[in-house]
Amino acid sequence: MSRQLGAGGDFAAAYVVAHEVAHHVQDELGILGEANRIRQQSSQAQSNAISVRIELQADCFSGIWAQQAQAMLGTLEAGDLEEAVNAAHQIGDDTLQRNAGQTPMPHTFTHGTSKQRGEWFMRGYRSGDMGQCDTFAARNL
Ligand SMILES: [Zn+2]
Repeated sequence: MSRQLGAGGDFAAAYVVAHEVAHHVQDELGILGEANRIRQQSSQAQSNAISVRIELQADCFSGIWAQQAQAMLGTLEAGDLEEAVNAAHQIGDDTLQRNAGQTPMPHTFTHGTSKQRGEWFMRGYRSGDMGQCDTFAARNL
């Protein structure tokens, strides 16, 4: 992550793990099943747009995890949040496509922009509230 993505730091790795665990939480809550059912009946662009909402919600849940880790264990160190947000920025679709020498094409995005990923992570972190992570109801991501 540090070498290929420019996303170094222990908390950058923690964010990525938390993001994957968040997908498991989404699965347990039935969110993934429902979203994927709708995706199968959608156009490619619509399916991608739903994917973005799934992924940004996982980023928001990751932020809640970070908030809880800090509240319960006090384990966040100076710079940790910045590492997570930097990692979220580095794996935004626009940044990945730009780094691959392409012009970012929003209809192909499946994970959200760098800005969106960082913002949804921080939204989860600041609120600690799953109700604030309803990307499916959000008018603006
Ligand atoms: Zn994901």
